[in-house]
Amino acid sequence: MRKPLVMGNWKLNGSKDMAKSLVAGLRSELSNNTACNVAIAPPVVYLDFVKHQLDGSNIILGAQDVGVNLSGAYTGEVSVEMLKDIGVTHVIIGHSERRTYHKESDEFIAKKFGVIKEAGLVPVLCIGETEAENEAGQTQAVCARQIDAVIKALGVQAFNGAVIAYEPVWAIGTGKSATPAQAQAVHKFIRDHIAKQDAKVAQQVIIQYGGSVNDKNAAELFTQPDIDGALVGGASLKADAFATIVKAAE
Ligand code: PGA
Repeated sequence: MRKPLVMGNWKLNGSKDMAKSLVAGLRSELSNNTACNVAIAPPVVYLDFVKHQLDGSNIILGAQDVGVNLSGAYTGEVSVEMLKDIGVTHVIIGHSERRTYHKESDEFIAKKFGVIKEAGLVPVLCIGETEAENEAGQTQAVCARQIDAVIKALGVQAFNGAVIAYEPVWAIGTGKSATPAQAQAVHKFIRDHIAKQDAKVAQQVIIQYGGSVNDKNAAELFTQPDIDGALVGGASLKADAFATIVKAAE
């Protein structure tokens, strides 16, 4: 049985005050949570601060991105070893906002996947089609291409212990979530696609859904057999909404 993972992606939001009260809210709402893994990914500058706020809780600390280099003359970069050093275990990569605004390619994202695995941390690989690709019937082809870049670079075994977040770009921050049936169809496609290479790897890989998940639509999404939790943006900034989503996954 796969244990679902609900992860909050704070994106470019927050402050020390906000982080303190949000984490306090989550800790009181989720004190007995065990049936579902819970993670939060604050902006990189607050990771260490949030780690301390999380002391003694079972909430996992995630990062929103990482660089591919480990050390050296790379001004402005953050390495996976640094993230690991301060207690990060999960790292989001390939988010559509990075693919779009930072022109990150499938191959570059596969490199990030590799350094995260090499460090013993968990990559959370975001994939998903744009609205135009969706309308052109390319959803499966896009998801397959984004997954295959990792398989080509690292082999299918790299997905052992990894997380995939299927996030249709048209659903991110729009309030227009994929329906449970739409999401399930793509999640099943992704799992079957990996199973063609290795059935065991496909069975254990966590496939989250992301894109306008909120406290109202989460429960129905989680009834689907191949949806193993969610990557949550906007709704992860409110403790009660995020806690409701976590409880729906338990
Ligand atoms: P959203 O963002 O929940 O605000 O749609 C999800 C994401 O981008 O991970």
